[in-house]
Amino acid sequence: MSFDVIIIGGGAAGVSAALWCDELQLKTLLLEAGSELGGQLLRIYNPIKNHLGIETENGRELRDIFIKQIKNRQFDVRLKSEIEQVDLKSKTVTLIGGETFRARKIIIATGVRRRKLNVEGEEKFAGRGIIESGRRDADSVRNKKVCIIGGGDAALENALILSEKASHVTLVHRRESFRARSQFTEQVKKNLKVKILTETAVRKFFGDERIEAIELENLKTKRIMKKDVEAILIRIGVEPNTDFLGEQIDLDEQGYIKINRNCETNVEGVYAVGDAANPIAPTVSTAVGTGATAAKAIFARLNL
Ligand code: NAP
Repeated sequence: MSFDVIIIGGGAAGVSAALWCDELQLKTLLLEAGSELGGQLLRIYNPIKNHLGIETENGRELRDIFIKQIKNRQFDVRLKSEIEQVDLKSKTVTLIGGETFRARKIIIATGVRRRKLNVEGEEKFAGRGIIESGRRDADSVRNKKVCIIGGGDAALENALILSEKASHVTLVHRRESFRARSQFTEQVKKNLKVKILTETAVRKFFGDERIEAIELENLKTKRIMKKDVEAILIRIGVEPNTDFLGEQIDLDEQGYIKINRNCETNVEGVYAVGDAANPIAPTVSTAVGTGATAAKAIFARLNL
């Protein structure tokens, strides 16, 4: 099947791009690997207060508003559509299962995923002591010893959230200084329930059915220590979902897609929007804005 535009990824950026392509009467296909649209919005459990025009209690609520808004639009949406192969030059997308689509233009909106520590026990204890969200899982850590790993806004904000319920929070960070904004670091440093271990790396998670302990290494002294824990939250940033592109497109050293101000990549007719192309401002507002930019740029090019 052939389209004007194929959009790969159904988070805020992809949905915005689809809405705008439809507005501009481009025949559009939106492909999403998951079973519903929304991307990272589905995993935001905090209130969203900084997206102009609307405040919501969490990401899903904002996602639902997006869905309501696109209900009567004419673009095609395919869920559970994982990419087997994409040929950017010929603008051909093949799904796992063999279905193939072609388009005149492609917009990549595949977002980012949480970075993993890649240490022993990380997979085994996911959901068995390693929690997914400070806000959502706060009640499950009531009176428990919690360890949070990371030094950015997410780790420090979650240290504050979890300290309200946990008996004790240990914040483990690999460097001496924090990347998080001072608003969070100052509050964490003042919080008597939070112990900070800097220049410390995680080496292993231990336990039987559930997590019981963590092995840490002081990177200065090389001393190894084992600490009893009952819950862990890993917040060490994100990485872009761009592996499937191989070497077809210019990426920066962290794997983010390089774009110009029209969201064009170095491959003719291929655009990138949202977090996968935006390490500096990974916000809903930027995702929505770049989605619109790419659609308008495509429309302008097709009508030259
Ligand atoms: P981040 O800012 O990229 O910070 C990631 C942290 O994890 C850094 O301190 C980093 O250490 C550490 N790290 C990275 N890889 C590691 C590894 N392999 N082992 C151990 N530590 C590792 O990520 P984030 O905190 O998830 O935040 C992501 C984005 O969301 C940011 O733009 C942030 O501002 C935003 N955010 C905002 C809010 C808010 O406004 N309320 C809340 C959460 C997140 P180094 O410092 O040594 O590199």
